[in-house]
Amino acid sequence: MKETGARIQFITDKEGPLLERLKAEGEQTPADLFITVNAGNLWWAANEGLLKPVNSKILQGNVPAHLRDPENRWFGLSVRARTLVYNTKKVKPSDLSTYEDLGSAKWKGRLCLRTSKSVYNKSLVAMMIHEYGEAKTEQMVKSWVNNLATDVFADDVQVLQAIAAGQCDVGIVNTYYFGRLMVKKPDLPLALFWPNQNDSGVHVNISGAGITRYAKHEPAAIRFLEWLSSEKAQNLFADANMEYPVNPKIAPDPRVAAWGPFKQNLINVSKAGELQGEAVKLMDRAGYQ
Ligand code: FE
Repeated sequence: MKETGARIQFITDKEGPLLERLKAEGEQTPADLFITVNAGNLWWAANEGLLKPVNSKILQGNVPAHLRDPENRWFGLSVRARTLVYNTKKVKPSDLSTYEDLGSAKWKGRLCLRTSKSVYNKSLVAMMIHEYGEAKTEQMVKSWVNNLATDVFADDVQVLQAIAAGQCDVGIVNTYYFGRLMVKKPDLPLALFWPNQNDSGVHVNISGAGITRYAKHEPAAIRFLEWLSSEKAQNLFADANMEYPVNPKIAPDPRVAAWGPFKQNLINVSKAGELQGEAVKLMDRAGYQ
């Protein structure tokens, strides 16, 4: 790292094995910084005591308050929205309005969803529990299940492909999957829709990072984390992923900006972790596979 003078080694894996490894290594861990997707995973790491609070004016200035841990143990670095996607040959944007409306009668047999086992859906439903309460959220999830065109899918790309193929007309996906698919297949009849623009906004989540509890190079790790939130790194990081920079001063990649501006839901993403257990139980009760 020329900018911060630190030499960096990366160990990459899926979040589950990485978290287990960090936990098992305890004080012996060679890791200074833990980087992963989804606030649910970061919340879990912090809750297990694997991350250390960082008091940094730079991070607090660069990362909006709802996209970092209220106790400063992790910070968002890029933003993805979990939003609606539709088949442009079968649906007009004016047919769409809110997440809740996907449960209304007009979408009967027209909705595709990814499995409830995905951390993205657990986090989405957890944040909805915070926003609407359990009863209303359960009703909403049940109404979605009622409207499914087909069995749930293993991932967001399959949802996008099913909608493009006309198997269903509308679904919920993370923005960067849409972006990456459209780069490869620009002619697919798909478009994003920003729901709830007249009320609480589109649900967002983060990729983010925190300093490990037993970091051996804490000052260097903090400098690196601060650098990741800076203008230069924000462009590199978010553009490569087709995500949104977390730092609101930085413009998104033009391909991402082309989807248009939207109002974000300002619930702190830590709720995605805090209420995840409740979300899993609720989705089970609602019959969401
Ligand atoms: Fe993903």
